[in-house]
Amino acid sequence: EMQVLKNPNPKPVKVGEIFFGGSQVVPMAGPCAVESRQQVLACAEALQKLGIKVMRGGAFKPRTSPRGFQGLGEAGLELLAEVKAKYGLLLVSEVIDEDSLRAGAEVLDIIQIGSRNMQNFSLLRKVGRLGKPVLLKRGLAATLQEWLAAAEYILAEGNDQIILCERGIRTFEPATRNTLDLGAVAWLKQEVGFPVVVDPSHASGQRRLVGPLARGAVACGADGLLIEVHPEPDQALCDGQQSLNFEQFARLLQELEPVARAV
Ligand code: PEP
Ligand code: MN
Repeated sequence: EMQVLKNPNPKPVKVGEIFFGGSQVVPMAGPCAVESRQQVLACAEALQKLGIKVMRGGAFKPRTSPRGFQGLGEAGLELLAEVKAKYGLLLVSEVIDEDSLRAGAEVLDIIQIGSRNMQNFSLLRKVGRLGKPVLLKRGLAATLQEWLAAAEYILAEGNDQIILCERGIRTFEPATRNTLDLGAVAWLKQEVGFPVVVDPSHASGQRRLVGPLARGAVACGADGLLIEVHPEPDQALCDGQQSLNFEQFARLLQELEPVARAV
């Protein structure tokens, strides 16, 4: 068995000048999907003002329905590249197949593997061979052992720059979009060396629950957060109901400070 999977000694993942799994909680934020130049530039400007270093934004969207907005694809990546050049933000974005991985590798600082692809083993092998930091989201109904086995596929190709992202799992409870498994966060922090971040947006599916879940995640030792933020959430093409506007996000950051200090 791979050492790191059983090794609770934190092994920080360095991205640019940022460390995941060090002493700081790293908040990452941005829209669910890249929609337009105006939208990503507005986000980037607002995030930079708030001291955020890593921006998210989906260019390739793995939508449940083929009728849902599928993302701008490579054009979306080009908009993200513009943001990176202008605002110096680091980028995390999802890739869904070999083509999007090849395109994403040119621009992205962290390659996101989404829940729906957590067990896409050929994609995991390819992202392992690429050798860039990977954000590996937990599968929709994956056990911790299945999730760690997926991480091992990446590790087996020689890439140990893996950040795990708990984003809620499918349970019998319909009141929230998913059920955030904070027990998993605490367990992983004790048993496994990879940094763990939490996505309270996809876990809850509701804007008003994002703050409480984010605070809980930090209290449980999360090394970072992935939060959906949009200039006009009610106009978003995707996941607006769980997205915060800039003001709500700024308030959340303030509310996180005392929690982070207390851990
Ligand atoms: C996302 O973060 O854009 C996303 C699609 O999330 P998940 O893979 O967790 O559903
Ligand atoms: Mn989303």
